[in-house]
Amino acid sequence: MIDFTLTPEQEALRSLAAEFAQKEVTPRAKEADETGVFPMDVAQKAWELGLIGYRIPKEYGGLGLGSIEDCLVAEELCSACMGIHATLNITNLAMEPILVAGSEDQKKKWLGPLTEKLMFAAYCVTEPAAGSDVAGIQTTARKKGNSYAVSGTKRFITGGSLASYYVVFAYTDKAQRHKGMTAFIIPRDSKGVTVGKKEPMMGQRASDTREITFEEVEVPAANRLGDEGQAFKIAMAAFDRTRPGVAAGAVGIARAALEHSTRYAKERKAFGQSIAEFQAIQFMLADMAMQTEAARLLTYKSAWLIDHGQRNSKLASMAKAFASDVAMKAAVDAVQILGGVGYSREYPVEKLMRDAKVTQIYEGTSQIQRLVIARHVIQEIG
Ligand SMILES: Cc1cc2nc3c(=O)[nH]c(=O)nc-3n(C[C@H](O)[C@H](O)[C@H](O)COP(=O)(O)OP(=O)(O)OC[C@H]3O[C@@H](n4cnc5c(N)ncnc54)[C@H](O)[C@@H]3O)c2cc1C
Repeated sequence: MIDFTLTPEQEALRSLAAEFAQKEVTPRAKEADETGVFPMDVAQKAWELGLIGYRIPKEYGGLGLGSIEDCLVAEELCSACMGIHATLNITNLAMEPILVAGSEDQKKKWLGPLTEKLMFAAYCVTEPAAGSDVAGIQTTARKKGNSYAVSGTKRFITGGSLASYYVVFAYTDKAQRHKGMTAFIIPRDSKGVTVGKKEPMMGQRASDTREITFEEVEVPAANRLGDEGQAFKIAMAAFDRTRPGVAAGAVGIARAALEHSTRYAKERKAFGQSIAEFQAIQFMLADMAMQTEAARLLTYKSAWLIDHGQRNSKLASMAKAFASDVAMKAAVDAVQILGGVGYSREYPVEKLMRDAKVTQIYEGTSQIQRLVIARHVIQEIG
Protein backbone atom coordinates (compact mmCIF):
# COMPACT_ATOMS: atom_id res chain seq x y z
CA MET A 1 0.00 0.00 0.00
CA ILE A 2 2.83 2.38 0.80
CA ASP A 3 5.98 2.76 -1.28
CA PHE A 4 8.61 5.36 -0.55
CA THR A 5 10.81 4.64 -3.57
CA LEU A 6 11.06 6.97 -6.54
CA THR A 7 10.51 5.56 -10.03
CA PRO A 8 13.65 5.43 -12.24
CA GLU A 9 12.28 8.46 -14.17
CA GLN A 10 11.75 10.43 -10.95
CA GLU A 11 15.22 9.50 -9.72
CA ALA A 12 16.70 10.62 -13.06
CA LEU A 13 14.86 13.97 -12.79
CA ARG A 14 16.00 14.44 -9.19
CA SER A 15 19.64 13.72 -10.18
CA LEU A 16 19.36 16.12 -13.14
CA ALA A 17 18.03 18.87 -10.87
CA ALA A 18 20.69 18.10 -8.21
CA GLU A 19 23.49 18.29 -10.77
CA PHE A 20 22.10 21.50 -12.25
CA ALA A 21 21.75 22.98 -8.75
CA GLN A 22 25.34 22.11 -7.89
CA LYS A 23 26.98 23.11 -11.19
CA GLU A 24 24.87 26.07 -12.33
CA VAL A 25 22.92 27.52 -9.39
CA THR A 26 25.21 27.25 -6.35
CA PRO A 27 28.13 29.08 -8.02
CA ARG A 28 25.80 32.00 -8.91
CA ALA A 29 23.79 32.21 -5.69
CA LYS A 30 25.98 34.60 -3.70
CA GLU A 31 26.48 37.06 -6.55
CA ALA A 32 22.77 37.03 -7.47
CA ASP A 33 21.85 37.60 -3.81
CA GLU A 34 24.26 40.52 -3.52
CA THR A 35 23.39 42.23 -6.80
CA GLY A 36 19.70 41.33 -6.84
CA VAL A 37 20.05 40.50 -10.54
CA PHE A 38 18.26 37.37 -11.75
CA PRO A 39 20.69 35.32 -13.90
CA MET A 40 18.88 34.85 -17.22
CA ASP A 41 21.63 32.58 -18.58
CA VAL A 42 20.92 30.13 -15.74
CA ALA A 43 17.21 30.29 -16.63
CA GLN A 44 18.02 29.58 -20.28
CA LYS A 45 20.02 26.47 -19.31
CA ALA A 46 17.25 25.34 -16.93
CA TRP A 47 14.67 25.71 -19.70
CA GLU A 48 16.83 23.74 -22.16
CA LEU A 49 17.08 20.90 -19.63
CA GLY A 50 13.30 20.88 -19.05
CA LEU A 51 13.54 22.30 -15.52
CA ILE A 52 11.01 25.08 -16.22
CA GLY A 53 7.35 24.60 -17.08
CA TYR A 54 7.68 20.79 -16.89
CA ARG A 55 4.13 20.46 -15.61
CA ILE A 56 2.61 21.65 -18.89
CA PRO A 57 0.61 18.66 -20.20
CA LYS A 58 1.97 16.71 -23.17
CA GLU A 59 -0.97 17.71 -25.39
CA TYR A 60 0.27 21.33 -25.23
CA GLY A 61 3.89 20.37 -25.92
CA GLY A 62 5.07 20.01 -22.31
CA LEU A 63 6.47 17.11 -20.30
CA GLY A 64 3.25 16.58 -18.34
CA LEU A 65 5.08 15.92 -15.07
CA GLY A 66 3.24 15.70 -11.76
CA SER A 67 3.37 17.31 -8.36
CA ILE A 68 5.87 14.79 -6.92
CA GLU A 69 8.27 15.70 -9.74
CA ASP A 70 7.70 19.38 -8.96
CA CYS A 71 8.69 18.69 -5.34
CA LEU A 72 11.86 16.85 -6.38
CA VAL A 73 13.02 19.75 -8.55
CA ALA A 74 12.04 22.40 -5.98
CA GLU A 75 13.94 20.73 -3.14
CA GLU A 76 17.13 20.42 -5.19
CA LEU A 77 17.09 23.94 -6.65
CA CYS A 78 16.06 25.64 -3.39
CA SER A 79 18.84 23.86 -1.52
CA ALA A 80 21.15 25.82 -3.86
CA CYS A 81 19.29 29.18 -4.11
CA MET A 82 15.68 29.87 -3.32
CA GLY A 83 15.82 33.30 -4.96
CA ILE A 84 16.87 31.90 -8.33
CA HIS A 85 14.34 29.07 -8.03
CA ALA A 86 11.47 31.45 -7.18
CA THR A 87 11.67 33.16 -10.55
CA LEU A 88 12.48 29.94 -12.46
CA ASN A 89 9.33 28.49 -10.92
CA ILE A 90 6.91 31.40 -11.28
CA THR A 91 5.45 30.12 -14.53
CA ASN A 92 4.31 27.01 -12.62
CA LEU A 93 2.16 29.20 -10.37
CA ALA A 94 0.85 31.40 -13.18
CA MET A 95 -0.12 28.50 -15.40
CA GLU A 96 -2.17 26.68 -12.76
CA PRO A 97 -5.27 28.88 -13.17
CA ILE A 98 -5.04 28.21 -16.92
CA LEU A 99 -4.82 24.45 -16.28
CA VAL A 100 -7.66 24.63 -13.76
CA ALA A 101 -10.08 26.83 -15.71
CA GLY A 102 -8.77 27.50 -19.21
CA SER A 103 -10.58 26.33 -22.36
CA GLU A 104 -8.77 24.10 -24.87
CA ASP A 105 -8.08 27.14 -27.05
CA GLN A 106 -6.70 29.12 -24.13
CA LYS A 107 -4.45 26.25 -23.03
CA LYS A 108 -3.05 25.90 -26.56
CA LYS A 109 -2.60 29.62 -27.00
CA TRP A 110 -0.99 30.45 -23.63
CA LEU A 111 0.76 27.23 -22.56
CA GLY A 112 2.06 26.09 -25.97
CA PRO A 113 4.52 28.99 -26.46
CA LEU A 114 6.06 28.35 -23.02
CA THR A 115 7.31 25.02 -24.39
CA GLU A 116 8.85 26.57 -27.52
CA LYS A 117 11.27 29.05 -25.97
CA LEU A 118 12.21 30.48 -22.58
CA MET A 119 9.27 32.61 -21.50
CA PHE A 120 7.77 33.53 -18.15
CA ALA A 121 4.25 34.16 -16.93
CA ALA A 122 3.40 35.80 -13.60
CA TYR A 123 0.56 35.46 -11.11
CA CYS A 124 -1.09 38.67 -9.94
CA VAL A 125 -3.35 38.49 -6.91
CA THR A 126 -1.71 40.53 -4.13
CA GLU A 127 -2.27 44.29 -3.92
CA PRO A 128 -1.05 47.06 -1.62
CA ALA A 129 -4.24 46.79 0.46
CA ALA A 130 -4.93 43.04 0.21
CA GLY A 131 -2.79 39.92 0.52
CA SER A 132 -4.22 37.25 2.83
CA ASP A 133 -7.67 38.75 2.39
CA VAL A 134 -7.91 37.96 -1.32
CA ALA A 135 -11.53 39.19 -1.38
CA GLY A 136 -10.21 42.63 -0.36
CA ILE A 137 -8.55 43.33 -3.72
CA GLN A 138 -9.44 46.61 -5.44
CA THR A 139 -8.62 45.80 -9.07
CA THR A 140 -11.68 46.01 -11.28
CA ALA A 141 -12.60 44.67 -14.72
CA ARG A 142 -15.37 46.72 -16.29
CA LYS A 143 -17.29 45.09 -19.15
CA LYS A 144 -17.06 47.09 -22.42
CA GLY A 145 -18.79 45.24 -25.25
CA ASN A 146 -16.75 42.13 -25.95
CA SER A 147 -13.84 43.18 -23.78
CA TYR A 148 -13.05 44.38 -20.26
CA ALA A 149 -11.21 47.46 -18.98
CA VAL A 150 -8.92 46.31 -16.17
CA SER A 151 -7.60 48.86 -13.65
CA GLY A 152 -5.65 48.30 -10.45
CA THR A 153 -2.25 47.80 -8.84
CA LYS A 154 -0.70 44.43 -8.02
CA ARG A 155 2.17 44.18 -5.55
CA PHE A 156 5.04 41.73 -4.90
CA ILE A 157 4.65 40.05 -8.27
CA THR A 158 7.38 37.47 -8.80
CA GLY A 159 8.76 37.53 -12.32
CA GLY A 160 6.94 40.85 -12.87
CA SER A 161 9.45 42.34 -15.30
CA LEU A 162 10.23 39.06 -17.07
CA ALA A 163 6.72 37.79 -17.71
CA SER A 164 5.26 37.83 -21.21
CA TYR A 165 1.79 37.70 -19.68
CA TYR A 166 0.07 38.00 -16.35
CA VAL A 167 -2.78 36.00 -14.84
CA VAL A 168 -4.70 38.76 -13.08
CA PHE A 169 -7.50 38.62 -10.53
CA ALA A 170 -10.03 41.46 -10.64
CA TYR A 171 -13.58 42.26 -9.63
CA THR A 172 -16.26 42.15 -12.28
CA ASP A 173 -18.86 42.63 -9.52
CA LYS A 174 -17.50 43.95 -6.23
CA ALA A 175 -20.87 43.73 -4.46
CA GLN A 176 -20.66 39.91 -4.71
CA ARG A 177 -17.35 39.85 -2.76
CA HIS A 178 -15.38 36.70 -3.60
CA LYS A 179 -18.19 35.48 -5.89
CA GLY A 180 -17.72 38.57 -8.05
CA MET A 181 -14.05 38.01 -8.83
CA THR A 182 -12.84 37.02 -12.31
CA ALA A 183 -9.45 35.95 -13.70
CA PHE A 184 -7.89 37.25 -16.92
CA ILE A 185 -4.78 36.65 -18.98
CA ILE A 186 -3.19 40.00 -19.81
CA PRO A 187 -0.22 40.23 -22.20
CA ARG A 188 2.54 42.35 -20.74
CA ASP A 189 2.74 44.51 -23.87
CA SER A 190 -0.92 45.60 -23.55
CA LYS A 191 -1.48 49.36 -23.51
CA GLY A 192 -1.84 50.58 -19.90
CA VAL A 193 0.44 47.97 -18.25
CA THR A 194 3.30 49.47 -16.22
CA VAL A 195 6.06 47.44 -14.57
CA GLY A 196 7.32 49.06 -11.37
CA LYS A 197 10.74 49.00 -9.74
CA LYS A 198 12.17 45.86 -8.17
CA GLU A 199 11.16 45.48 -4.50
CA PRO A 200 14.15 45.55 -2.12
CA MET A 201 13.60 42.28 -0.23
CA MET A 202 15.21 40.76 2.87
CA GLY A 203 15.84 37.43 1.15
CA GLN A 204 15.22 35.69 -2.14
CA ARG A 205 16.97 38.73 -3.52
CA ALA A 206 17.81 37.20 -6.91
CA SER A 207 14.11 36.91 -7.60
CA ASP A 208 12.36 39.55 -9.68
CA THR A 209 9.61 40.97 -7.43
CA ARG A 210 7.69 43.97 -8.83
CA GLU A 211 4.65 46.15 -8.64
CA ILE A 212 2.49 45.96 -11.79
CA THR A 213 -0.08 48.62 -12.59
CA PHE A 214 -3.01 48.16 -14.96
CA GLU A 215 -4.63 51.35 -16.15
CA GLU A 216 -7.76 50.91 -18.24
CA VAL A 217 -6.13 47.93 -19.95
CA GLU A 218 -8.39 46.57 -22.65
CA VAL A 219 -8.64 42.79 -22.33
CA PRO A 220 -10.66 40.71 -24.84
CA ALA A 221 -13.36 38.49 -23.31
CA ALA A 222 -11.49 35.57 -24.94
CA ASN A 223 -8.77 36.12 -22.27
CA ARG A 224 -11.19 35.54 -19.39
CA LEU A 225 -10.51 32.29 -17.50
CA GLY A 226 -13.76 30.47 -16.79
CA ASP A 227 -16.94 32.41 -16.18
CA GLU A 228 -17.31 35.73 -14.40
CA GLY A 229 -17.25 35.20 -10.63
CA GLN A 230 -15.14 32.00 -10.66
CA ALA A 231 -11.72 33.46 -9.90
CA PHE A 232 -11.72 32.96 -6.14
CA LYS A 233 -12.35 29.23 -6.58
CA ILE A 234 -9.72 29.11 -9.34
CA ALA A 235 -7.16 30.83 -7.09
CA MET A 236 -7.80 28.39 -4.23
CA ALA A 237 -7.60 25.35 -6.55
CA ALA A 238 -4.33 26.70 -7.97
CA PHE A 239 -2.87 27.07 -4.46
CA ASP A 240 -3.71 23.44 -3.67
CA ARG A 241 -1.53 22.49 -6.60
CA THR A 242 1.37 24.88 -5.95
CA ARG A 243 1.71 24.74 -2.15
CA PRO A 244 3.39 21.29 -2.18
CA GLY A 245 6.14 22.82 -4.35
CA VAL A 246 6.63 25.72 -1.93
CA ALA A 247 6.81 23.21 0.93
CA ALA A 248 9.42 21.22 -1.02
CA GLY A 249 11.46 24.39 -1.51
CA ALA A 250 11.38 24.90 2.26
CA VAL A 251 12.58 21.30 2.70
CA GLY A 252 15.47 22.17 0.38
CA ILE A 253 16.45 25.08 2.62
CA ALA A 254 16.22 22.92 5.76
CA ARG A 255 18.35 20.24 4.11
CA ALA A 256 20.98 22.80 3.08
CA ALA A 257 21.02 24.16 6.64
CA LEU A 258 21.57 20.64 8.00
CA GLU A 259 24.34 19.86 5.50
CA HIS A 260 26.24 23.13 6.00
CA SER A 261 26.03 23.00 9.79
CA THR A 262 26.93 19.30 10.08
CA ARG A 263 30.04 19.75 7.92
CA TYR A 264 31.06 22.82 9.89
CA ALA A 265 30.42 21.13 13.27
CA LYS A 266 32.69 18.23 12.33
CA GLU A 267 35.55 20.57 11.42
CA ARG A 268 35.29 23.32 14.00
CA LYS A 269 37.25 22.79 17.20
CA ALA A 270 36.46 24.30 20.60
CA PHE A 271 37.74 23.31 24.03
CA GLY A 272 40.03 20.76 22.37
CA GLN A 273 37.38 18.83 20.47
CA SER A 274 35.15 19.15 17.45
CA ILE A 275 31.92 20.97 18.27
CA ALA A 276 30.03 18.00 16.73
CA GLU A 277 30.98 16.12 19.88
CA PHE A 278 28.98 18.50 22.10
CA GLN A 279 25.55 17.12 22.82
CA ALA A 280 24.02 20.61 22.55
CA ILE A 281 25.14 20.76 18.92
CA GLN A 282 24.16 17.13 18.25
CA PHE A 283 20.62 17.78 19.48
CA MET A 284 20.24 20.73 17.11
CA LEU A 285 21.48 18.56 14.21
CA ALA A 286 19.18 15.70 15.26
CA ASP A 287 16.15 18.00 15.40
CA MET A 288 17.01 19.46 12.00
CA ALA A 289 17.36 15.99 10.44
CA MET A 290 14.16 14.70 12.06
CA GLN A 291 12.07 17.73 11.15
CA THR A 292 13.41 17.88 7.59
CA GLU A 293 12.46 14.24 7.04
CA ALA A 294 8.98 14.77 8.54
CA ALA A 295 8.45 17.88 6.38
CA ARG A 296 9.50 15.98 3.26
CA LEU A 297 7.08 13.12 3.97
CA LEU A 298 4.16 15.51 4.58
CA THR A 299 5.08 17.37 1.40
CA TYR A 300 5.20 14.18 -0.67
CA LYS A 301 1.81 13.12 0.67
CA SER A 302 0.25 16.46 -0.28
CA ALA A 303 1.75 16.10 -3.78
CA TRP A 304 0.77 12.43 -4.10
CA LEU A 305 -2.87 13.34 -3.46
CA ILE A 306 -2.80 15.83 -6.34
CA ASP A 307 -1.16 13.28 -8.64
CA HIS A 308 -3.90 10.79 -7.74
CA GLY A 309 -6.72 13.23 -8.43
CA GLN A 310 -7.68 13.67 -4.77
CA ARG A 311 -8.44 16.84 -2.80
CA ASN A 312 -5.36 17.96 -0.89
CA SER A 313 -6.29 21.41 0.52
CA LYS A 314 -5.73 20.38 4.15
CA LEU A 315 -2.54 18.43 3.41
CA ALA A 316 -1.17 21.18 1.14
CA SER A 317 -1.66 23.72 3.94
CA MET A 318 -0.15 21.34 6.51
CA ALA A 319 2.87 20.68 4.31
CA LYS A 320 3.39 24.36 3.49
CA ALA A 321 3.02 25.56 7.10
CA PHE A 322 5.07 22.73 8.62
CA ALA A 323 7.89 22.76 6.08
CA SER A 324 8.28 26.53 6.19
CA ASP A 325 8.45 26.52 10.01
CA VAL A 326 11.03 23.71 9.79
CA ALA A 327 13.07 25.66 7.22
CA MET A 328 13.05 28.77 9.40
CA LYS A 329 14.12 26.90 12.54
CA ALA A 330 16.77 24.88 10.71
CA ALA A 331 18.26 28.03 9.17
CA VAL A 332 18.31 29.86 12.53
CA ASP A 333 19.95 26.85 14.20
CA ALA A 334 22.49 26.56 11.39
CA VAL A 335 23.51 30.18 12.02
CA GLN A 336 23.83 29.29 15.72
CA ILE A 337 26.01 26.25 15.00
CA LEU A 338 28.34 28.30 12.80
CA GLY A 339 28.55 30.98 15.51
CA GLY A 340 30.09 34.27 14.36
CA VAL A 341 30.76 33.04 10.84
CA GLY A 342 27.15 31.93 10.65
CA TYR A 343 26.23 35.60 10.98
CA SER A 344 28.80 36.59 8.36
CA ARG A 345 27.78 37.12 4.76
CA GLU A 346 30.90 35.20 3.75
CA TYR A 347 29.15 31.94 4.70
CA PRO A 348 25.93 30.68 3.09
CA VAL A 349 23.76 30.07 6.15
CA GLU A 350 22.67 33.67 6.87
CA LYS A 351 21.22 33.71 3.33
CA LEU A 352 19.30 30.52 4.12
CA MET A 353 17.80 32.31 7.12
CA ARG A 354 16.74 35.33 5.05
CA ASP A 355 15.39 33.14 2.25
CA ALA A 356 13.52 30.77 4.59
CA LYS A 357 11.44 33.59 6.08
CA VAL A 358 9.43 34.20 2.93
CA THR A 359 8.16 30.61 2.84
CA GLN A 360 6.13 31.49 5.96
CA ILE A 361 4.63 34.47 4.08
CA TYR A 362 3.93 33.88 0.40
CA GLU A 363 1.28 31.64 -1.17
CA GLY A 364 -0.64 32.08 2.08
CA THR A 365 1.01 32.97 5.39
CA SER A 366 1.50 30.34 8.10
CA GLN A 367 -1.51 31.85 9.90
CA ILE A 368 -3.70 31.45 6.82
CA GLN A 369 -2.54 27.82 6.39
CA ARG A 370 -3.55 27.15 10.00
CA LEU A 371 -6.98 28.69 9.35
CA VAL A 372 -7.44 26.29 6.42
CA ILE A 373 -6.28 23.30 8.49
CA ALA A 374 -8.52 24.25 11.43
CA ARG A 375 -11.53 24.68 9.13
CA HIS A 376 -11.04 21.13 7.84
CA VAL A 377 -10.43 19.64 11.28
CA ILE A 378 -13.53 21.28 12.78
CA GLN A 379 -15.64 20.06 9.86
CA GLU A 380 -14.23 16.53 9.86
CA ILE A 381 -14.30 15.67 13.56
CA GLY A 382 -17.84 15.21 14.86
C1 LIG B 1 9.03 37.66 -2.12
C2 LIG B 1 7.55 37.67 -2.34
C3 LIG B 1 7.03 37.22 -3.54
C4 LIG B 1 5.65 37.23 -3.76
N1 LIG B 1 5.15 36.84 -4.99
C5 LIG B 1 3.83 37.00 -5.25
C6 LIG B 1 3.30 36.74 -6.57
O1 LIG B 1 4.03 36.32 -7.48
N2 LIG B 1 2.00 36.97 -6.80
C7 LIG B 1 1.17 37.42 -5.83
O2 LIG B 1 -0.05 37.60 -6.10
N3 LIG B 1 1.62 37.68 -4.58
C8 LIG B 1 2.93 37.48 -4.26
N4 LIG B 1 3.42 37.76 -3.01
C9 LIG B 1 2.52 38.26 -1.98
C10 LIG B 1 2.23 37.28 -0.86
O3 LIG B 1 1.45 36.20 -1.32
C11 LIG B 1 1.56 38.07 0.28
O4 LIG B 1 2.56 38.92 0.83
C12 LIG B 1 0.99 37.17 1.34
O5 LIG B 1 -0.16 36.50 0.85
C13 LIG B 1 0.57 37.95 2.61
O6 LIG B 1 -0.18 39.06 2.29
P1 LIG B 1 0.21 40.51 2.89
O7 LIG B 1 1.63 40.73 2.63
O8 LIG B 1 -0.76 41.49 2.35
O9 LIG B 1 0.03 40.37 4.44
P2 LIG B 1 -1.35 40.59 5.25
O10 LIG B 1 -2.44 39.82 4.60
O11 LIG B 1 -1.56 42.04 5.47
O12 LIG B 1 -0.99 39.90 6.63
C14 LIG B 1 -0.21 40.56 7.63
C15 LIG B 1 -0.18 39.63 8.85
O13 LIG B 1 -1.52 39.42 9.33
C16 LIG B 1 -1.80 38.03 9.40
N5 LIG B 1 -3.20 37.78 9.07
C17 LIG B 1 -3.92 38.26 8.02
N6 LIG B 1 -5.17 37.78 8.04
C18 LIG B 1 -5.25 36.96 9.13
C19 LIG B 1 -6.28 36.15 9.70
N7 LIG B 1 -7.49 36.07 9.14
N8 LIG B 1 -5.99 35.46 10.82
C20 LIG B 1 -4.75 35.51 11.38
N9 LIG B 1 -3.75 36.25 10.90
C21 LIG B 1 -3.98 36.96 9.78
C22 LIG B 1 -0.88 37.40 8.36
O14 LIG B 1 -0.68 36.03 8.63
C23 LIG B 1 0.38 38.23 8.54
O15 LIG B 1 1.11 37.76 9.64
C24 LIG B 1 4.79 37.71 -2.75
C25 LIG B 1 5.32 38.14 -1.52
C26 LIG B 1 6.67 38.13 -1.32
C27 LIG B 1 7.21 38.64 0.00
